[in-house]
Amino acid sequence: SPTIMWFREDFRISDNLALHEAERRGQPVLCIAVLDDDRLPGAAARWWLHGAIRSLDESLHKKGGALHVFRGPTLKVLAAIVQATGAGAVFWNRRYDPQGRKTDTAVETMLNAKGITVRSFSGALLHEPWTVRTRSCQPYKIFTAFWRAARALPPAIFLHPAPEKLVFARLSPALDHLTVKDMRYGLRPAHPDWAAGLHETWTPGEESARDRLAAFLQYDLARYAAERDFPAKDRTSRLSPFLRFGHLSPGRIWDAAMRGAYAEKFLTELGWREFAWSVLYSTPDIATRNLRPEFDAMPWRDSPGELAAWQQGRTGYPLVDAGMRELWHTGWMHNRVRMVVASFLVKHLLIDWREGERWFADTLVDHDPASNPMNWQWSAGTGVDAAPYFRIMNPLLQSRTFDPGGDYIRRWVPELAHLPADAIHAPWISGRPDNYPAPIVDHRMARERALKAWKTI
Ligand code: FAD
Repeated sequence: SPTIMWFREDFRISDNLALHEAERRGQPVLCIAVLDDDRLPGAAARWWLHGAIRSLDESLHKKGGALHVFRGPTLKVLAAIVQATGAGAVFWNRRYDPQGRKTDTAVETMLNAKGITVRSFSGALLHEPWTVRTRSCQPYKIFTAFWRAARALPPAIFLHPAPEKLVFARLSPALDHLTVKDMRYGLRPAHPDWAAGLHETWTPGEESARDRLAAFLQYDLARYAAERDFPAKDRTSRLSPFLRFGHLSPGRIWDAAMRGAYAEKFLTELGWREFAWSVLYSTPDIATRNLRPEFDAMPWRDSPGELAAWQQGRTGYPLVDAGMRELWHTGWMHNRVRMVVASFLVKHLLIDWREGERWFADTLVDHDPASNPMNWQWSAGTGVDAAPYFRIMNPLLQSRTFDPGGDYIRRWVPELAHLPADAIHAPWISGRPDNYPAPIVDHRMARERALKAWKTI
């Protein structure tokens, strides 16, 4: 009876514990992925998902197999597959978002009732989200305390080359009606192909993830702590979408980074990722509910025009606009700039952080249901261990401090590319070209308005 290896957010064949165990079961393995319309990611991440499926399929082809892609409601699809193949076991690596957990529990119950073995493994996190707890068994609410506790525990690291002798099961023709043969799987935009910038920027897949990790460790890690906040320097790893789709396990990154010096700051950032998943695990509605309930009464403004200006990078604040355009073009934005644009939306425009969270969810290739809402709530001051609301980032000061030469702005806002460093941050003072907008809000006015609104709650 074949073993079904169900790939979900772990698109890799090395360091994959579920796949390794599936091989060890000693039966032919059927590799599957299920596209369930109920849980497809946002548009940019969907583009990535397509690439992830394709590259995994290629890796499996080299081993003589394939990735069989199904489309339909998860439960129904899995029931049909086990029925048609006579599979005796289904293996997967765990996922931790509320919807995924619910589905997985339902699938497990359904399969167990048919006498089919289900085994799940750890592969996406260094620590299972329920394992790092305070002395009274509560989830941590403060990052530094969380990370101190997590650091004292051994991380779950499974390092193993791709299986050598996988024997693949054949797919039964009875399943034809559920499989997707179209290489786009309905995941990639056709017309207009807004994904051109994503193509230019990224190559999804395990191999390119390994290359990126190696390049980062060799060229950037030593200066990461000092230069990670300067977007023009490109000093961060850009591993986030690879982690999101499991082309690389955090254990692999951990192990590689620990072998050299200078790793601590970088590892702490991986710690933020762990923290986000731990927060999501104990607070499943983090994307929709203010974790500080007093913010439920916040008089957010409803301004579709200003929201659109923010989304399209037309606010008149060069650093904000550069960030939003980088996001639109590449599906990624530098972390410092994410903080600046988030603060700008929530404080300068006084627009509900959930609008920003939703926009990021649709446009980020690395969007995940833990890091995105946690960071938005952090930026908005509505979350656990968050930056206080009254601390309002000055976009001009941020621009001068973190992009002093203006190179990042020049890269993304060509209208301003001719301006020298001392003029580029505030074109409304230095002489704004006609094709670049005036600031949509005045900094001082916006700051006072935000503080006044905050005082009402
Ligand atoms: P590096 O600096 O190289 O860090 C290494 C890894 O650590 C990252 O790949 C990421 O997995 C993790 N990491 C770093 N910073 C954070 C952080 N603050 N929170 C959680 N994990 C972190 N990150 C996402 O992966 N998905 C999101 O949807 C997301 N949304 C965000 C929204 C806002 C408003 C903000 C301010 C930040 C958000 N982040 C998100 C966190 C962070 O900006 C990105 O993880 C980071 O920019 C990715 O680039 P990198 O891989 O080069 O990071």
